[in-house]
Amino acid sequence: RRVMRPRDVLARFGGDEFTFCFEKVDDERHARRIAERLGSALRAPFVIEGESRFITASLGIKLSRGEETPEALLADADAAMYRAKELGKARAEFFDETMRQRVVERLELETGLRDAIERGQLRVEYQPAVDLRSGEMVGVEALLRWDHPTLGTVPPDRFIPIAERTGLILPIGEWVLREACNQVARWQEDGAARSSELTMAVNVSARQLLSDELVGVVRSAFQDAGIPPGRLCLEVTESAVIADPDAALETLRELAELGVGLAIDDFGIGYSSLGNLRDLLPVDVLKIDRSFVSGMNLRSEDHAIVESVLQLAKALGVRAIAEGVETVDQADALRDLGCVYAQGYHYARPGKPTAVDELLGREALNEPLAEPGSDPTADPSDGMGAGGFEPPTSRV
Ligand code: C2E
Ligand code: MG
Ligand code: MG
Repeated sequence: RRVMRPRDVLARFGGDEFTFCFEKVDDERHARRIAERLGSALRAPFVIEGESRFITASLGIKLSRGEETPEALLADADAAMYRAKELGKARAEFFDETMRQRVVERLELETGLRDAIERGQLRVEYQPAVDLRSGEMVGVEALLRWDHPTLGTVPPDRFIPIAERTGLILPIGEWVLREACNQVARWQEDGAARSSELTMAVNVSARQLLSDELVGVVRSAFQDAGIPPGRLCLEVTESAVIADPDAALETLRELAELGVGLAIDDFGIGYSSLGNLRDLLPVDVLKIDRSFVSGMNLRSEDHAIVESVLQLAKALGVRAIAEGVETVDQADALRDLGCVYAQGYHYARPGKPTAVDELLGREALNEPLAEPGSDPTADPSDGMGAGGFEPPTSRV
């Protein structure tokens, strides 16, 4: 209310959504200024029972031309707000016509997602994580895919937020956990060479982390599959923890007691303080966000960040995995910094379980593929620096 004039209207729209109506707004710039004032008012901590709590707001803005119905005005502002959320939250977006199309699409996705499990449209792909020194596969990450009957394969970034908002992430997340654990059991039964050391990483979203059922769901997933809990590693993001740190940390502690591994995903782009990180240990793994890895040979800042995260991980006694390694130069730079684990297209793209089957029998993912007429006994490491081999991505 502090940033409003007496005539302006503030209403609670439902849940955690609020509507502001400002009269006599001249143009976009003026609206932008109001949005900035709102944003900065909300950035200040709220002190509740002596503790500072932070919230952020995603703002959707629609400038009225004075001819819309109130319902249409609200619907457009709502669409812009969803766009602001999609673009990373804590920001303001103006409505434009393409957003209306997105609303239709989102509704279509939401309706379809309700019975995607029963219709067998969901599946899991697996992306190997490797030891940078030997190229050996040390684990895989389960990545969800949705084969939509008309839209084709929908990437998780597009439907996970919908699943989160609607709560569908709970049954879907449970399905992924079971599927991933069963896959570990299958690889084990097949007796594949490396299967006994392989860790299965599964992503867990904020809503799952805050659900009372997660610990029980995880327990029955690995028990029913008959695999030891240590084979499973759950990946959570900093923002998922920050949504409700006390509850999240309690759940993480219980999960650690179960014996499953814990990783912080996309590390470095969240907002957690180092103090938070201290509370976050029992975490076993920090996954260095792809944005830093992709920039590390281009910007000295990114290189410095990767280096610092590696030092931090070492000091805290946790493993670090570099995400999104796409080139031999990035792999080299990481190895030079002492980074041990990596994941990325350079080694393998996410693939069907059968693609991993083949890799499970292979010594190293960065060994050169034997070309007709080439000398198969040549030292594989010769190929590395020179970049004289084809990354095995095409095989996965
Ligand atoms: P994430 O957990 O950080 O997963 C890594 C993402 O980076 C994956 O995208 C992967 O395909 C992609 N990636 C891996 N290596 C490279 C590379 O070298 N270059 C580039 N450009 N990308 C690479 P994907 O599969 O689209 O998943 C996106 C996000 O969706 C995941 O990010 C994760 O947050 C979420 N997600 C995926 N599956 C699940 C799930 O089962 N449950 C939940 N809650 N979230 C999931
Ligand atoms: Mg992940
Ligand atoms: Mg990540």
